[in-house]
Amino acid sequence: MANRRILTVFGTRPEAIKLVPLLRALGEDERFQSRICVSRQHRGMLDQVLSVAGITPDRDVELERSGLGLDQLTAALLTGVGAAMDAERPDMVVVQGDTATAMAGALAAYYRKIPIAHVEAGLRSGDIHHPWPEEVNRRIIATIAALHFAPTRKAAEALLAENVAPATVHVTGNTVIDALHWITACIAQQPHLAARMANLEERFARRRIIGVTAHRRENWGEGMDAIADAVARLAQRPDVGIVFPVHLNPAVRGPMEQRLAGLSNVALVEPFDYPNFARLLATATLMLSDSGGVQEEAPALGTPVLVMRETTERPEGIEAGTARLVGTDPHRIVAEAERLLDDEAARTAMARAHNPYGDGKAAKRIVDLLAGWAPNASSAP
Ligand code: UDP
Repeated sequence: MANRRILTVFGTRPEAIKLVPLLRALGEDERFQSRICVSRQHRGMLDQVLSVAGITPDRDVELERSGLGLDQLTAALLTGVGAAMDAERPDMVVVQGDTATAMAGALAAYYRKIPIAHVEAGLRSGDIHHPWPEEVNRRIIATIAALHFAPTRKAAEALLAENVAPATVHVTGNTVIDALHWITACIAQQPHLAARMANLEERFARRRIIGVTAHRRENWGEGMDAIADAVARLAQRPDVGIVFPVHLNPAVRGPMEQRLAGLSNVALVEPFDYPNFARLLATATLMLSDSGGVQEEAPALGTPVLVMRETTERPEGIEAGTARLVGTDPHRIVAEAERLLDDEAARTAMARAHNPYGDGKAAKRIVDLLAGWAPNASSAP
C-alpha cells in the first residue's frame, strides 16, 4: 500500500525513548505517512524526550489531572485516544510496551478494526501482580495485535507459547539500543546536552557514583520506604556519591525527599532528560533501579545494575550477568551494593558489556516489516 498511514500512540517517558528511533525512521521513509498521538500520561518527562528528539505530536490527549486511579486513567485514555483515531483514520496503529496508554491505544484501535503493531512484544514475568498492571497490559495487547515485534528470542517464544500465530511474530531487537546509540552520538557532538550530569561528576570527583531510579507502582508505599532506607545507609559511606533523579510521581517524591533530602553525598535531582541519564548510565560504578528500561540499557554499557524488584520480565540481562535481582529488602540491597563496591573481582565479573537486547538496528527492521505487512498475512482483526 502506498503511503501507509501509521498512527503511533504513546504517553510516557520510556515509550517515547524507545519509539524515537522508530518515529525518526518512519518520518524519513516515503512508504509511510507517520502521525503521532500522545496522551501525556507522564507530562513533563514525556516533553523532555520529545524536545531532545525534535518531535512534535499531531494529537494530544489531555488528561484532566495526574494521579488518576487506574480505572479513571484507562477510561479517559480509551475515550481520548479513540477520538484521536476517529480524526486520524490510520491504516495501522503502533503501540510500545505495556503502559495504560499502550493498552488503551490498542483497545481503541481494536474497537475500530484497525490493525495493531506491538513494539517490544512478548515480555512476561509470569506474575500478573509484578509488574502491576503492566504484565496484564502486555497480555491484552498480545491478544489483539496483528504484528508482534519481539525484542529477543525468549520474548518471541513466550508469544508462541500463548498460541500467537507464528507468522505475526518477529524478533527485531529492542529499539532502546537504537535509542542509546542515537543519544550517545548526540552527546558526542554536543557535550553540553549532558551538562547537568557533568556538574555532578565534578561535585563527586573523588567518589564512585551510584545511580538510583525508582518508580514502580508495586513498590509504592513500603517498597519506596525500603529503597529510601537502603540509599540512606549507602550514603553513610564516604567513598560514594549517589545520583538519584527522582520520578515526578508524588508516591515516589514524598518518601525520597523525606528520607534523603539534605544528605551531603546524595544528589536528589529532578528527572534527567535522556542525554543526562545516558551519561549517568555510562559513568556510574553501579545502578540501583526498579526500571525496565535501565535493565536493558545498563547491560549494553557494561554497567552493573541491581534490580530492586521481586521478578523481572527481562531475564536476558540477569542471564548475561550484568543485572541481579535483589528485591526491596534494604539489608539485601545494601549488602549486594557493598559487595560490588568492595570486591573488585565481583564488580568486574558483572561489568561486562553485553547486548542481549539488540544491535541498534531494530527500528529499521520494524519499518520494513510494517511496510511489508498485508492483512491476509496474519490473524489481524
Ligand atoms: N530515564 C531518563 N531520565 C531519568 C530516568 C530514566 O531519561 O531520570 C530513562 C531511562 O534511560 C530509560 C527510561 O527512562 O530509557 C526508563 O523509564 P522508567 O524507568 O520511567 O520506566 P520503565 O522502563 O520501568 O517502564
